Parts: sequence; structure tokens; C-alpha cells
Amino acid sequence: MGEKTMKALVYHGPHQFSLDDMPVPQIQEPGDVILRVTLATPCTSDIHILEGHIPFVKWPITLGHEFCGEIVELGSAVEGFKVGDRVTCLPGAFCNECEMCKSGYSSFCTHGGCYGNFLHLPGALAEYIRIPFALQTMKHIPEGLVEEDVLLAGDMLGTAWFGITNAEVKKGDSIAVFGVGPVGMCACILAKKVFEAKTVIAVDLAQYRLDAVMNAGVADYIINSGEEDPVKKIREITGRKGVNAVVETAGVQSTMTAAARSLGIGGILSTISLFSKPLELPLDLMPNRNLQLKTGIQQCEGVDTIIELIKEGKIDTRFMQTHRSPLNDIIHALDIFGGNKDGCIKYLITPYER
Ligand SMILES: [Zn+2]
Ligand SMILES: [Zn+2]
Repeated sequence: MGEKTMKALVYHGPHQFSLDDMPVPQIQEPGDVILRVTLATPCTSDIHILEGHIPFVKWPITLGHEFCGEIVELGSAVEGFKVGDRVTCLPGAFCNECEMCKSGYSSFCTHGGCYGNFLHLPGALAEYIRIPFALQTMKHIPEGLVEEDVLLAGDMLGTAWFGITNAEVKKGDSIAVFGVGPVGMCACILAKKVFEAKTVIAVDLAQYRLDAVMNAGVADYIINSGEEDPVKKIREITGRKGVNAVVETAGVQSTMTAAARSLGIGGILSTISLFSKPLELPLDLMPNRNLQLKTGIQQCEGVDTIIELIKEGKIDTRFMQTHRSPLNDIIHALDIFGGNKDGCIKYLITPYER
């Protein structure tokens, strides 16, 4: 690795970001690995950072936490991997030794953090990235698979896994997904293809997203909530009973209220949204129907299983990968992806072209 500088998408404060020349990262600890990023994709939370909605992110920082790479250098403590191996990574790094990690809350690790987000680990919308605690964070790309197959395993699918398992989706259940952006689409995939829900109902305002899940065969019904009342429609579909569970991904008042009102007796409202302000819940209704509310941040607990299921062909996210450009075009990519333009679902970023 002869280069001293690399291209990286750097956040300089709300609405200020550019493709800059940055130092190529170096090994700092024996557990570190340096990856050449082979494929990455911006996440909706990167857009929230760029818009200044996530105040704890300090700048300047390189963004990006959804990526695959090729190992170019390993620290002395990293066993089981070698230079040239292709890996996919979890969205953050964690030590596996602190109190938080030992209690199963690795996302709150005292020594780790999410790349390009909190605790200031530089991110993956760059040519190279340093992976601390690499043994916990990196996953080999299984033989026969390529980057595109596993790119979404750690963040989009990992978050959806958390939402679906919190929702306790079982074979034969009926479930609704409110908000079918990338994570909601992954929730539809898991509900239909892995947890074998009988009825998956997708609710969104964007018709192209609804069409995408319907065409991919991961939703049985689609409801455009700009045109129809989703609560009324869900009652119709379920013979007035309501659904067993809702996975909510939009995090706004209208979806939270409609989600609660769509549940049948004993139903679970599993939200994977991060809320920017307090919202109201229909608590006049929830105890009388034994409804439960579950919230939280994923701890990447499903990712190994997810990669196995991708290998078995049960999970396929290719239909979501609508756009693709080299890192050279990242500013344009963020405009298209962040603005939900041109039918964009996920925008893949390939290495910088010199
Ligand atoms: Zn993310
Ligand atoms: Zn830890």
C-alpha cells in the first residue's frame, strides 16, 4: 500500500460535505485491520447527519458504515484472516470485553462506536478504512457470494432482523410494515422468506417502494397511505381482527398512531425508528387490547444467521440495489439517494476511479 492520501467523503457540519484528500489510515492497535473498500452504500442515517439532525456527531468526519472490503494490512492479533481476504463488516466496532458488551449491548460499547457516526471512528465512504477490534466486526464473504450479496447484511438486514424478532413474527402470522424504505423492505424480506408470515402488508407514501416489494414477492398487500386509510384497509384484509405485529420504520406521529390502531389483541408494535422528538401513543386503546411496544437499537445479533440465509438463497436484496457509481460521484449519489429521486432505493458506491 504505497499511497499516502485517499479520497473520502468528509462531513464538515450541517449541509457541508465534500470529497476530500485524507491520510490513508494506519494500523494503530494489534486488533486492527486496514481494508480497501470494495463496495459501500450511504445509509439514511448518513443523510440525517448531513442535514444536521444527529447533533452528537462531531465534525470533520468521514461518513459511511455499510460496506465490504479487501484486507490490505492486519494487526498482529488478527487471526483467521489474511491479506487479500474479502469481508463484509458490521456498522460499528465493539471490544467484546467492557460491561456493555458483556451484557449484550455491544452497540453501547465503551471503546467502540459506529463508523462515521458517534465516538468518531472514520467511515467507509472512502478508499480505505481502519477496522478496530476486527475479529468481532469483520465477516468473511462466503465462497460463491460477492459483495452485492452481503453488502446490506450488517446494517439494513441486521436492523430489520432486530425489528422482526422483537415483533415475534411466527409462521402463519399477519404483519404490517409501516415505512418500506431500505430497512422496511428488508423487514418484508425476512417476514416473508425467513419467518414465513402468511400475510405481509407494506404501507408507505411512495408508490415505487410499494411496487418494489410487491414485484419482489415479499409483500402480499400494499397500501399507499396517501391514498387510503391504512388502519381501515388492514382491518379489511385481516377480517377485522388486525395484524399480529407491526414493524414501524418511519418514526412519525401518523405512522406510530396507525401502527398501534392496526394491531389485533395481544399485538406487538415493534419500532426500529429513532425519534427526533416525543410522540403520542393511543394509550386509551393499548391496555384494553394487551398491546406491547418494543423499541431499541440492534446489537447485530442476527448477522451471522443472515449471511448463512443469503448463502442458502433465502435472502436476496439485489432488487433494492437500484443505482451505482464510483466514489468520484458521491455528492451526486447523496443528492439522488437522500432526495428519494429517480426511484432510488440503495445507491452502491464502487471504488474511486483515477
Ligand atoms: Zn445505517
Ligand atoms: Zn465493549
